Amino acid sequence: MFTEAEGKSLLSAFGIDTPQGVEIAVGQELPGRLREPLVVKAISSTLVHKSDAGGVRVGVTRADLEEVTARMRESLADFGHTLEGVLVEEMVPAGHEIIVGAVRAPGLGWTVMVGLGGVLVEVFEDVAFGLAPLSNGQILDMLQELRGMKVLNGARGGVKADVPALVTLISRLAGPDGLLAALPDDVVEIDLNPVIVSDTRAVAVDARFVVG
Ligand code: ADP
Ligand code: MG
Repeated sequence: MFTEAEGKSLLSAFGIDTPQGVEIAVGQELPGRLREPLVVKAISSTLVHKSDAGGVRVGVTRADLEEVTARMRESLADFGHTLEGVLVEEMVPAGHEIIVGAVRAPGLGWTVMVGLGGVLVEVFEDVAFGLAPLSNGQILDMLQELRGMKVLNGARGGVKADVPALVTLISRLAGPDGLLAALPDDVVEIDLNPVIVSDTRAVAVDARFVVG
């Protein structure tokens, strides 16, 4: 397993937009360059779904950081995890939450999945699949298969998502020269959950790389 920050630096090396962030030890001072509002995320080698154990706090100021970290340590302890440090990130502008995932099947390569986050994926299972390497046209076709595509296009007064930025992000992951093709064989699964797509950006705010 890669840490979230390691996964994000890999994404970033392939041109995939990720939030500015820094890993710090508990009690360590936050370097100056991050802009508020901040997001604080638990680092703990035993924790997979951070929010389930109170391991994510959004809308945090620098002044709050110490208290938020102390509470996070207590909350993780209640769930049997140890807080090893925190990843402090800039909060990205609100948008649509999209899930992008990929699973490696031995001998077959990568199956890529895209879906609209939250209730649409969990309840309606509104997802589309494709096999890497994917062309931009194939990525767009996958997105168009989603019943929730209307939501991305700003239905009912919602934010109109930057769909081209989302296509670019998926292409940098699953295109012919994308990250998937460059990963070592022992990486078997990737989850970008969520990618936040606003009217100007598509940003991977969470990254999980599973080593088999
Ligand atoms: P988990 O391990 O629980 O999946 P995430 O890193 O996905 O943790 O964070 C949980 C939620 O917090 C995300 O679904 C997103 O809504 C929000 N979030 C996380 N990071 C950011 C960020 N940098 N900017 C804005 N929202 C964020
Ligand atoms: Mg997540």
